[in-house]
Amino acid sequence: MKVKARLWDILDNNKVKCHVCANECTILDGKVGICRTRKNIDGELYTLIYGSLISKGSLDPIEKKPLYNFWPGHTAYSIASVGCSFRCLNCQNWSISQATPNENGNQGSYDFEDYRDRKLSLVEMTPEELVKRVKRSGAKTLAYTYNEPLIWHEWIMDTTPLLRKEGIQTILVTNGFSTEQASEELIDIGIGAANIDIKGMSDEFYKKICGVPVVQPVLDTAKRFKSNGIHIEITNLIIPDINDGEEDITKLCEWVSDTLGNDTPLHFSAYHPDYKQPSQKRTSLEVLDKAYTIAKNTGLYFPYVGNLRHEKGSNTYCPNCGEVIISRMGFSLSNIKITEDKKCENCSHDLNMAIIGEINRDASSSRFSFY
Ligand code: SF4
Ligand code: SF4
Repeated sequence: MKVKARLWDILDNNKVKCHVCANECTILDGKVGICRTRKNIDGELYTLIYGSLISKGSLDPIEKKPLYNFWPGHTAYSIASVGCSFRCLNCQNWSISQATPNENGNQGSYDFEDYRDRKLSLVEMTPEELVKRVKRSGAKTLAYTYNEPLIWHEWIMDTTPLLRKEGIQTILVTNGFSTEQASEELIDIGIGAANIDIKGMSDEFYKKICGVPVVQPVLDTAKRFKSNGIHIEITNLIIPDINDGEEDITKLCEWVSDTLGNDTPLHFSAYHPDYKQPSQKRTSLEVLDKAYTIAKNTGLYFPYVGNLRHEKGSNTYCPNCGEVIISRMGFSLSNIKITEDKKCENCSHDLNMAIIGEINRDASSSRFSFY
């Protein structure tokens, strides 16, 4: 659906400048920005994807986002649209992130050779319809996931307050490439949590792999969200021969510890070759184990390992006594050693600041379904 965009300036000659993400595109009349979803029409900026979803939504365990310390065991009603502010060479969701919406926002198409004839149908919805669906599903959280939510700014701004009224938390699974203005709007509107990808710690990595010039806006978003009380967890995808060096991992762990604090969960995720395959190899268990150990030695309380089975990296440990407080089998919680008033069963350490929201003690693996 096409609606007038937020956060843009008028420039000369009918050009506009968008401030929704850190690309801050200058867009000529008739053209779209880097994300392909925001168009300059006669000197005014429009988003083309307001209420345009790739499906009506699906139910996922919140651990799949991944969020391990936020509403553990709960279900996330998950939605996505098309477009992204990045062009990651390894994107697993390239068929939506690299699609271009049409001006009605009800169809996506591709710029690539071999894909030009393929079309993607989008489902249109109003914020009220979305809220009704989430409520009916019983989910306590709504996750923006699979493509980049920051470029869906107007839709998030309109849906979040309606969801909050119903006690439903909004979660962003994001590349974090925001601007100060856009982040502040998201903070003020009341998003509950974000999983932010810190894909690497250097501009060189972001240039080569993601197609954007700098990493700093990502770090600034993480810092800004955290200091404004949004629960954040960080994900780092470890790509063999690209960002798997001890130095890269140590730099990230130290930054998280020094800037966000040791209570910030950090998920190391295994890579497999996809899309343009910047590496042909899969991440080994040894490398993930090394990352986990570095994070622990840096002082982080909640390092995790995802996409490959790693026992220690699946569990949550008490930051005080070191005993397991939540053990997991895949995305299911298999054992919870936390009292009803959120104390560690072993040492009575108060976990209210470490584990946010209700714990669903009946969670099972049946939290997956299409809606
Ligand atoms: S959201 Fe980002 S990529 Fe899209 S037009 Fe605005 S500044 Fe450009
Ligand atoms: S930021 Fe995420 S969705 Fe966007 S291109 Fe990169 S991996 Fe894909």
